[in-house]
Amino acid sequence: MRRVHPEDSLAAVRLDSVRKVYANGQIAVAEASFEAADGELLVLVGPSGCGKSTLLRLVAGLESVSAGTLAIGGRVVNDVPPRDRDIAMVFQSYALYPHMSVAQNLAFGLSLRKTPRAEIDARVREAAAMLDLSSVLERKPAQLSGGQRQRVALGRALVRKPSVFLLDEPLSNLDAKLRLGMRVEIARLHKRIGATMIYVTHDQIEAMTLGDRIVVMNGGEIQQIDAPMRLYEKPANVFVAGFLGSPAMNFFRGRVSAANGMQIDLGEASLQLPAASAHALANNAGREILVGVRPEDLVLAGDADADAIEATLEVVEPVGNEIFLNLRRGDQAIVMRVPPRTMPETGTTLRIAMKPERVHLFDAKTERRIEIP
Ligand code: ADP
Ligand code: MG
Repeated sequence: MRRVHPEDSLAAVRLDSVRKVYANGQIAVAEASFEAADGELLVLVGPSGCGKSTLLRLVAGLESVSAGTLAIGGRVVNDVPPRDRDIAMVFQSYALYPHMSVAQNLAFGLSLRKTPRAEIDARVREAAAMLDLSSVLERKPAQLSGGQRQRVALGRALVRKPSVFLLDEPLSNLDAKLRLGMRVEIARLHKRIGATMIYVTHDQIEAMTLGDRIVVMNGGEIQQIDAPMRLYEKPANVFVAGFLGSPAMNFFRGRVSAANGMQIDLGEASLQLPAASAHALANNAGREILVGVRPEDLVLAGDADADAIEATLEVVEPVGNEIFLNLRRGDQAIVMRVPPRTMPETGTTLRIAMKPERVHLFDAKTERRIEIP
């Protein structure tokens, strides 16, 4: 056994420049380097096809890595078969054995491993209690609700007592309300058992609410790894900025128009930056910029505000505690989030402004964040 990072505690999962190219030439994971610390709940999020499942399957040993090093608990496992990795995986399309009871479904994996009968019974009882399944142990899967079935799938992983749980979109077959409940259940379960978990989802809200830290992926590449609110406040590039947050961030094309960096020209409108942010753009006159602003950081402008953006109100979406205003400026759609009060009629032209201290600036070519001190 080779230990690469002896300081790692038992269940840390570490990837160093891991790459996966499928036989057909598809680069599913370009180069992934990160660590899920012992006991951490790490979330992998990104749009469909970005390589999340591949990454998880690499950790599980269901796919072989093309390059790089994969270590669990400090042990390089590149060539270790799945059954010797001390992991358990829960898939989106879990299949319970329909002719077996819940108890038998939970016990099945352990029986295969020749675990003693008394030990199996104890673990099944424990998992059932944790997942609120004790009263349905004798039922068949067809006699369960969707949420209960999902909990049995989780339970089958739980009874194995692995040091690492890998969950691949485990809630995507459930309806919205059940998902919400199960999300809380999984967070609770994680706190209780304290095992390392890597949780894959395409749902940014699920990611934000569940993860200690989040790995954002796109097109096989890791975009940013950070705590949820850091990702929201300091997105590293245009992709992360647009992917996290609902409704999504608005982007405006502009150009630095003053040598001191204080002004960005936005076509017929303009944005005056506070001195602190302008500093990052001093001597950048002419540089093309993408200005990102979240729906909650747009405000209705006063009549005196000559720099305001004019846009037509197309759709008003009242969601109770707030209202989303969907506006159009030429071919650009803009979304504003405002408090619930009487709103102008659709079709009217609104004058809107950005909160200058809340804007995100990105280089238009590289799409990378321009760091504002
Ligand atoms: P995600 O889980 O984020 O939706 P996947 O990891 O399933 O993404 O897929 C990443 C990319 O790799 C996709 O383009 C997908 O079509 C491709 N892919 C997945 N599995 C295979 C495979 N066995 N052979 C070839 N390409 C694959
Ligand atoms: Mg997937």
